[in-house]
Amino acid sequence: MKSVVIIGGGVAGIETASALSDFGHNVVLVEKTDSIGGKVLKWDHLFPDLKSASELENYLDIKCREGNFAIQKNTTIAQASQSNGKWMLRTDNNRVIETDAIVVATGYEVFDASRKEEYGYNIYDNVITSVDLEERLKSGKTITTRAGYLPEKIGIIHCVGSRDEKSGNHYCSKVCCITGVKQSIELHKLLPEAEIYCFYMDLRMYGQYYEELYREAQEMHKIQFIRGRLSEVSENIDKRLLIKAEDTLSGRPLKMSVDLLVLLVGMEPGKGTKSMAGICGLETGKDGFLKTSDMHFGNNKTGKKGIFLAGSCIGPMSINDTISNARSAALEVHNYLQTK
Ligand code: SF4
Repeated sequence: MKSVVIIGGGVAGIETASALSDFGHNVVLVEKTDSIGGKVLKWDHLFPDLKSASELENYLDIKCREGNFAIQKNTTIAQASQSNGKWMLRTDNNRVIETDAIVVATGYEVFDASRKEEYGYNIYDNVITSVDLEERLKSGKTITTRAGYLPEKIGIIHCVGSRDEKSGNHYCSKVCCITGVKQSIELHKLLPEAEIYCFYMDLRMYGQYYEELYREAQEMHKIQFIRGRLSEVSENIDKRLLIKAEDTLSGRPLKMSVDLLVLLVGMEPGKGTKSMAGICGLETGKDGFLKTSDMHFGNNKTGKKGIFLAGSCIGPMSINDTISNARSAALEVHNYLQTK
């Protein structure tokens, strides 16, 4: 029986661990925190079908409870070395794990919106991120302003921390356009009297049924999409937010007051991903995510023999793409272990 260590206990890590244990390998899943499941535990509903995120949580929970793999929580990999075709991983609590293969599934981090000071996150009361909104939706509480009023006008800003030279992130995070469409529909259902405006640079509805949801947002929920880049947000004395943007279709400057502003934050390589790059000597791409050996034919392989990648440590991915990517990683590892 061959052994595999999976690093990261989010969607990609659990899916890869489950598939590899089904192949009959001896699998250990290592997670740095005390919980398994990753960021999906914070999500309320998934796009594009608005499925409850609790269904995904249950799916992952069953895999962890019934899967034939070990889970080590509160464990971080501190060192990696290779000898005689095996990898030796030293954990932060000084344990050594010997393994035939490693799968890095360390995921992503959400862009810290306070880095875009001009948008007022953590400065103004009524500027929140899409992650904050998701948590509020999940809590089931009424969506209000900080002072407890129902918002009459809501702005949603796309591309916060993505496609942005100033943030150092030139890439598109892929999932935030559709997240904005989904959240605008959810807000409209909860606050049917509110006017909702999405400010976008381009709308990237690349996935199956994304375009349909975008049409539904416009036709059934009267969400207004304005092609414009936000330049600045300021707060009025009544705590409403004055947003200044340029309508890039008409070429005119635009000013609007809103009660609540939602920043659609993008994805960045996580600290764990950067740390594993250093520890294992893995290459990163120009976006800082881990580089695969070939983006067409080796999308789970690395330049290091016996080390594979799964999920959004490779780049921004939706949940269904992450699950598919994790399954393909498991197959790559399984094929590799057959040759050992
Ligand atoms: Fe911007 Fe949309 Fe790409 Fe996100 S998915 S970075 S909001 S264009």
